[in-house]
Amino acid sequence: MQRIPVAILGATGAVGQRLVSILFDHPWFEPVALCASERSAGKPYGQSTRWMLPDPMPQAAATMAVRGCAPFSGPAIAFSALDADVASEIEEDWAKSGRLVVSNARCHRMRVDVPLVVPELNADHLRLVERQPYPGGGAIVTNPNCSTIGLVMALKPLDDAFGLRAVNVVTLQAASGAGYPGVPFMDLIDNAVPYIHGEEEKLEAEPIKILGRLSADGSRVEGATFGVSAACHRVAVSDGHLEAVSVSLERPADRASILRAWMDAGADTDGLRLPSAPERPLVYIDAPDRPQPRFDRGAGKGMSATLGRLRPCSTLGWKFELLSHNTLRGAAGGTVLLAELCVVKGLVPRAAGFAVLGEAMPELELEPALA
Ligand code: NAP
Repeated sequence: MQRIPVAILGATGAVGQRLVSILFDHPWFEPVALCASERSAGKPYGQSTRWMLPDPMPQAAATMAVRGCAPFSGPAIAFSALDADVASEIEEDWAKSGRLVVSNARCHRMRVDVPLVVPELNADHLRLVERQPYPGGGAIVTNPNCSTIGLVMALKPLDDAFGLRAVNVVTLQAASGAGYPGVPFMDLIDNAVPYIHGEEEKLEAEPIKILGRLSADGSRVEGATFGVSAACHRVAVSDGHLEAVSVSLERPADRASILRAWMDAGADTDGLRLPSAPERPLVYIDAPDRPQPRFDRGAGKGMSATLGRLRPCSTLGWKFELLSHNTLRGAAGGTVLLAELCVVKGLVPRAAGFAVLGEAMPELELEPALA
C-alpha cells in the first residue's frame, strides 16, 4: 500500500519529536523529510536531535539527513511544529507550492480563511480552505493551542445540550508546553509560574472560533457568543495540562444530564475510521482526586481528554477538572488526526504528485474534494 509522503517541519523540537515518533509508524503517512533550522540542517537526525521521548528514536529517522525548511518536491503534506517566530512565512511558502500544511503554530490560526479544527468537533470548518489564495490545492489548516483543545472537547457537548453563557478556566500547564529546553530549571522546581506569554489570550479567543458556526456560504466562522476568562500557570509537570473549569449554562442542567451530555456526545469523526481517533474522546473518572497528569495523561493513547470532579459552583453553576496531553492531543497527535481527516475530505493536493488516495485506502468512502 502506498503511503502519502510527508515532511515534518521543526522535526527536532518537542512537538516535532512526537510527530517523528507517530509518523514513522503510521499506516497512511510516510515521512520523507525531516526539516529544522540551519543549525541542524545537514546532520543526521540522530545527531542533531536531543531525543526526549521514552520510546526509542525510529531507526529510519536517526539516519535521515535533516534539511532546511524551504519547500522542495516530494512531500504532499507538511506537518509544521515550527517555532512560531518563523512558522508564518515558511508555512505560507509550502502552501504556495501546492502542499497541504497542517500546523501546530499559532501564526495562521485566527485568519478568517484558515480553519482551526478539532476533528471531532468542527470538521465542517475545513471548507474555509476554499477561500485560501494558494495554487495547486495548497492550503493551511491549523490545530488549536494545547490548552484550548482539551477545553473545547469538554465544552462542545455542554454548549450543544444546554448553551454556554460564560466559562472561567484556570490552567496548570506542563513544562513541555514551553518546548525544549523550555523554562529554566531554576524557575520551575519548587515553584509555579503564574504567567505564560500570550496563553490567556489564545485560550480566550480560540474556543470562540472553534465552537462558532460556519456561515451559510462557507466563507467565515461566526464566533460563538459565550465569554471565556482564562488564568494560565506553568507547573513542574513533564506532560499533561490540568484545567479547573467553571461554566455558566443558558438552560438548567443537573449532574446526571451533564454527564450524559459528555458521554453521549457524537463526534464528526464517527464512522471515518481515522487511525488516530480515540475510541472515546472524553473519559470521565468518578474519583475525588482525579484526573492527575501522571496517571491520566495517557488516556486513549494520549488522545482522550479526561474529566472529573463535576460539582456545583457557587458563582457560575457547575465546575469540573479536565486533563489533556499537551504534546499528543494538544499538538502532534492532534495534527496527525487532523491530517487524517483532511485525507478523507479529499484535501491532500493531487498536484503534489500523489494521486492514489482511493488506491491507498480502498476501504474508505472518500468525500469529494472540497477544493
Ligand atoms: P521547540 O521544542 O522549541 O522546537 C522548535 C522547532 O522549530 C525546532 O525543530 C527548531 O529547529 C525549529 N526552528 C527554530 N527556528 C527555526 C528557523 N529559523 N528555521 C527553521 N526551523 C526553526 O518548540 P515546540 O514546543 O516543539 O513547539 C513547536 C510549535 O508547536 C510552536 O509553534 C508551539 O507554539 C506549538 N505548540 C507546542 C505545544 C507543546 O506542548 N510544546 C503544544 C501546541 C503547540 P532547531 O532544533 O534546528 O533549532
